[in-house]
Amino acid sequence: MENIEKIHQYLIQFMLRNGVSTVQRAIKYCSKLENETVDMAKLGVIINHINRVICNQHFKLVFGTCEVTNKDLLVWLNLKNDPLSKSQPYFTERELEYFQAILEEIINSEQRKLMIVVCINITSTLTASFSRENGKSVLEKWIKSGYFVKNGEFIHLGLKLILEFTSYLRTHRPECVCYLCSELSFTGKICDNCDKMFHSYCIDKYMQNQTACPNCKQDWRETDVFKTLVEQSSTQMQITNIEEMNIDEGIIEPGPSWRGNRRNRSPCY
Ligand SMILES: [Zn+2]
Ligand SMILES: [Zn+2]
Repeated sequence: MENIEKIHQYLIQFMLRNGVSTVQRAIKYCSKLENETVDMAKLGVIINHINRVICNQHFKLVFGTCEVTNKDLLVWLNLKNDPLSKSQPYFTERELEYFQAILEEIINSEQRKLMIVVCINITSTLTASFSRENGKSVLEKWIKSGYFVKNGEFIHLGLKLILEFTSYLRTHRPECVCYLCSELSFTGKICDNCDKMFHSYCIDKYMQNQTACPNCKQDWRETDVFKTLVEQSSTQMQITNIEEMNIDEGIIEPGPSWRGNRRNRSPCY
């Protein structure tokens, strides 16, 4: 068993509480705990150590970039959630049904995003009563924990959802992968000529020294070469800021046991 120090214990609790954090904020939190500057390299060492401890609980901490906000994130993954239909303890039966309904609507929609009001309306289609208020509050909870991202009037898939439900998403939308890195992509850019999909951050990097589509060779220096799935003009203003939503900035003592920190639910499907 790996030796767990205070920093690991607190960071585990911090990530369990938040579900997702910007890398910047995790660094700030660790620096506060350690009373010295923790840089990216040191955070990496801390995360590797934690992963060795939590891996046999089917948990994992991973770094990634949100394709809607372009922010670098640290995400707490519960790998037991995958596949979606498997019994898992983090949702009530009705919440799981609601979650799955929203997820299906989003991945089956052309724009891979859903108006918030439509998400709330889905509550009335579930097999048992689930109020709009319940829908709103649970959706808010899922946005805070990184499953979904709110951008203006719309809900997109969040990085935590994409990483936890990778095999489900790859099975149902195999074409939703970035042509450059082969990872899932739902909110990036699409070549107007060949319809290949790209993460915005992958294409930005690629275009630093290339000008043609890597697939169809269409020259992208011409205007309107991309169909963009995020409203660019409003992105800066309206994306719900994770920093603002997770106001839980103070250092909180770890609870009795993070291993016991889950609800017991019977299998749903
Ligand atoms: Zn990519
Ligand atoms: Zn192309």
